[in-house]
Amino acid sequence: MDDQQVHYGDDYKPIPATSISDGISLEIAPHVHYHTIQIVNICFVKLDTPGDFVLIDAGMPDSAEHIITATEEKFGEGAKPSAIILTHGHFDHVGGIIELIKRWNVPVYAHEKELPYLTGKKHYPKPDGTVEGGLIAKMSPMFPNDPIDLGGHVQALPIDGTIPHMTGWRWIHTPGHSPGHVSFFRDSDQTLIAGDAFVTVRQDSLYKVLAQEIEINGPPRYLTTDWKEAWKSVKTLAELNPSVAVTGHGGPVSGEELSTGLDILVNEFDRLAIPDHGKYVNDKEHYKKDH
Ligand SMILES: [Zn+2]
Ligand SMILES: [Zn+2]
Repeated sequence: MDDQQVHYGDDYKPIPATSISDGISLEIAPHVHYHTIQIVNICFVKLDTPGDFVLIDAGMPDSAEHIITATEEKFGEGAKPSAIILTHGHFDHVGGIIELIKRWNVPVYAHEKELPYLTGKKHYPKPDGTVEGGLIAKMSPMFPNDPIDLGGHVQALPIDGTIPHMTGWRWIHTPGHSPGHVSFFRDSDQTLIAGDAFVTVRQDSLYKVLAQEIEINGPPRYLTTDWKEAWKSVKTLAELNPSVAVTGHGGPVSGEELSTGLDILVNEFDRLAIPDHGKYVNDKEHYKKDH
């Protein structure tokens, strides 16, 4: 690679939180494998040419070695993806990316609206540690927040909805959790990679995060800043009728459990997902009127 000044934010640091799922790898649909890094999931999507694949998201801080090992276990020594595609740029989805770019020299793609946060230009709003419900939210002010700079290595996803290298897939803009958050969908078998648009574990319960108990829920609260958009995004995804989904946090869900869970979440998003109070919540009544 050219020796650009790619770097993490100044407050980059490992986060000492992990779950019993750490290291788990599973094929959730043909050619789609997810792998858990501490409390976040990355995905490998195999492509048509044998040995060709892309990596979705880049794990927790300090996880590059873990990701490289997982990659080589799956695809052989020295294997590298054709690209890294990001659902969004939060610290727990780009935690290993600098080392990965340096080692693999592969392009990174993200939504145009996420690029300022990935090129050192903009800070995400500070995590809201006051949202009710437990230790993870209370820990969130220590999460890295200074912007990472991937320089010229990151580029915008094509505006026509296609995803470089991922034939048969499209990206769907699912903002709310972050401005340029995207999810990935394969129409042929309705496989969904949802990122943090919704998750399958309650992020505000430390016990449930650590035990990875399945429960379809809204996006992680302490980092979500636009609840109205977040609600719309969940509706968009529910309308796709996904048959199986892997989210940024928690185990995969499919079939009845997924469709019922999404229905309930769409209908009761104000009760289930939106915190009762918090920096990014004004007045819960305000959300109800519009839905
Ligand atoms: Zn996130
Ligand atoms: Zn996340």
